[in-house]
Amino acid sequence: MTPAADGPAAAAPATTDVADRATAAFRSGYDEQPAGRWAAPGRVNLIGEHTDYNDGFVLPFALPLRTVVAASPRPDEHWTVRSEIADQPVDFGTAEVDTPGRVTGWGGYVAGVVWALREAGYAVPGARLAIASDVPLGSGLSSSAALEAAVLTALVDLAGLDLPTGRRPRLAQRAENAYVGAPTGIMDQSAVIRCRAGHALFLDCRDESVEHIPFDLDAAGLAILVIDSRAPHRHADGEYASRRAACERAAALLGVPALRDVPAADLDDALGRLPDDETRRRVRHVVTENQRVLDTVALLRAGRVPEIGPLLTASHASMRDDFEITVPEVDTAVEAALAAGALGARMTGGGFGGCVLALVETDHSEAVAAAVTTAYAERGFPTPTTLTALPAPGTTRLPWLP
Ligand code: ADP
Ligand code: MG
Repeated sequence: MTPAADGPAAAAPATTDVADRATAAFRSGYDEQPAGRWAAPGRVNLIGEHTDYNDGFVLPFALPLRTVVAASPRPDEHWTVRSEIADQPVDFGTAEVDTPGRVTGWGGYVAGVVWALREAGYAVPGARLAIASDVPLGSGLSSSAALEAAVLTALVDLAGLDLPTGRRPRLAQRAENAYVGAPTGIMDQSAVIRCRAGHALFLDCRDESVEHIPFDLDAAGLAILVIDSRAPHRHADGEYASRRAACERAAALLGVPALRDVPAADLDDALGRLPDDETRRRVRHVVTENQRVLDTVALLRAGRVPEIGPLLTASHASMRDDFEITVPEVDTAVEAALAAGALGARMTGGGFGGCVLALVETDHSEAVAAAVTTAYAERGFPTPTTLTALPAPGTTRLPWLP
């Protein structure tokens, strides 16, 4: 990972390695060595936006930014968690764990993982945990799933549980949906747990099947520039709910279980059966976006990486004009990146802020980042943060220290 020259990295400045920070926090917090350290990455979605809840396709990849948990088991059913973001540790026992929502704030993500494992019938050991992270919180790079995945994997390994990787995303998602109470699809947890270095994860949100698609940016002399738009999330929850409801209504009108069941070839016919322009535009986004994921996968399989650029840009136009989920900051970033020579650019994530990604020639990454920063300054937006990324591995146990 090389932070781009202009603007600080999207992460907290990595003055020391994140794994070292987790280890140091564990030692100073608990006055002992951790038994091990587990790392889970942030992620971005290359393409496939608002397709997940329409039973469609997404194509995320893991970022080189990671959350690391250092952990040790303890003999009782009690958990103590420290994070760099908080002065005080969070403590809880089975009484708090077994009542979803009881542990509030950031500790809820950890308690939720313990809860989800216990609810699925696994005996989870008590543990001491210390967390450090380079994944920015709340920027849409999925720090929440990284936290859940790192903790889940640590607890699974400490307990020696036989829990296949493919079943882990569901448990991490349950922690977030049912314990924390944040509605998310399966993409984030699947990506951070299952992604592989040098690959994107082609995920079918209907049956959760995955395929690892070679995404060798490095060999193509390319990189993905991730730009944190720093736009405040304006009304994001309500807008998300209304898009979701519109899609469900449209599927019902079209007589299909989900919009995924409308093939791109049948789009015109489907649009002709919808009652109003807004619904038609929402459907057109979802159907064409699903097809763009399939087209991107086909190009990547053929090793034609630079050619995915126009699909990324088309995805952005569809989100801006048809799904209406972009904001001036992200539109500005996309336009500036393209004008500076990016091969393609789009907002990534649910919308109304979050991050933009741009496919760039590695040598041009800094110039594209600088162009976005200049465009932001001209519009009076706060300086965006940028990061140049290649597809990184999913959740791993780190080799142990001396
Ligand atoms: P995103 O997943 O896009 O970063 P979310 O709102 O879904 O944003 O999740 C962010 C929340 O996850 C934080 O507010 C915090 O409660 C929790 N979280 C994530 N990473 C950490 C961490 N390293 N330490 C403590 N809490 C964290
Ligand atoms: Mg999240």
